[in-house]
Amino acid sequence: MNDKNNAYGEVLEILDQTANLLGLEEQDYLRLKYPEREMKVSIPVEMDDGSMQVFEGYRVQHSSVLGPYKGGIRYHQSIDPDEMRTLAAWMTFKCAVVNVPFGGAKGGIKVDVTELSKNELERLTRAYTSLIYPIVGPETDIPAPDVNTNAETMAWFMDAYSCLRGEPTPAVVTGKPVELGGSLGRADATGRGISLMAREICKKHGLPFKGARVAVQGCGNVGRSAVRNLHRSGCKILALSDVSGGIYRDEGLDIEQILELFSENPEQLLKDYHSPGIRRIPREELLIQDVDILVPAALGHQIKGEVAPHIKAKVIVEGANAPTTIEGDKILAKKGVVVVPDILANSGGIIVSFFEWIQNLYSLKWEEYDINQKLETIMVEAFNKVWQKADQHCTSLRQGAYLIALDRLITATKMKDLNQQRMQVVSSPSPN
Ligand code: GLU
Repeated sequence: MNDKNNAYGEVLEILDQTANLLGLEEQDYLRLKYPEREMKVSIPVEMDDGSMQVFEGYRVQHSSVLGPYKGGIRYHQSIDPDEMRTLAAWMTFKCAVVNVPFGGAKGGIKVDVTELSKNELERLTRAYTSLIYPIVGPETDIPAPDVNTNAETMAWFMDAYSCLRGEPTPAVVTGKPVELGGSLGRADATGRGISLMAREICKKHGLPFKGARVAVQGCGNVGRSAVRNLHRSGCKILALSDVSGGIYRDEGLDIEQILELFSENPEQLLKDYHSPGIRRIPREELLIQDVDILVPAALGHQIKGEVAPHIKAKVIVEGANAPTTIEGDKILAKKGVVVVPDILANSGGIIVSFFEWIQNLYSLKWEEYDINQKLETIMVEAFNKVWQKADQHCTSLRQGAYLIALDRLITATKMKDLNQQRMQVVSSPSPN
């Protein structure tokens, strides 16, 4: 766990740095350095041609200090235990910074989704569910969608889990289809949150939000919903990219048309989108466009030391998890680029997941307007707290967010430890 040359090493580095600023002893936060539980599973799946393949799957539960474990399940060919651990730890911090009563977890399957049919993906999801069944549940660990998984994946997961448990259990996952107990507003929650955070940071920096020029990297669940919400809020989306390449239009892209294409065909790639006036840009150049706001909403570790010096955006709102490396972050800070960190910027999803979980547990159905209002209240309050904390310590918003999160985690840990000590006193046999 002490190898600092991997992604989890970055978690440890940030943890040490933040603990230092809070004046903590290593003993105070030692347990947060280690994921509480890690499960690796081998998932046998019968393919459409009758052959058998075995896929590698994971569920890492980082911390349950603040509540049941919570975090998405991603399907990607690059998944490994280090990445799972890192993402699980970031979920612990994400839940803590926005003060939702969940711990952090992450799961995933090492698979290239483009190589599987829908039926194969369904069988893969059901088999994975049965293998991690012993450690998930509505009171213990509640998965959700992430990279390359969606509401349909969650429906399969919920159904497989419910069959094994012998009773309908909608609260075992969030991000389900609305027809199956999903929450209104969940599908758009991450993008809505990103747009809110972009608005707030523009306000603080005296930048006009309406009409702001934006570049968005990534057209997955998060990228699409960020584009939709920023566009609806009056921003001008100049540049957009996906795995197939990037597009740019100085007067702003025709977002309504692009969203329409995505809703007709969720597999739509930008390389097949044609419209007068658009310029093709290499995928890597998306990050260095001359815009006001940059939203990295693809995979992690995109803004590295090499690209950071060339970034022209004034503010970055991190839609993806961990899109900026420590080195990239230092360069951005020197350049005066303000970054709204992932654990705050993309927390809209987890917040509405929390609302979904409550609705499922109590068989409630909340109105979308109320959900959006509650989401805004929580995120704006968290933003202001992070802003104040960063200001107070003359540090970045990222560091401000970690300070708030770690403080909450340590306070809760100490309270539990105190109670444990009391119980030991009560239950220890009296002398003589
Ligand atoms: N996968 C999303 C994230 O990284 C959502 C997690 C959830 O709703 O549990 O925040």
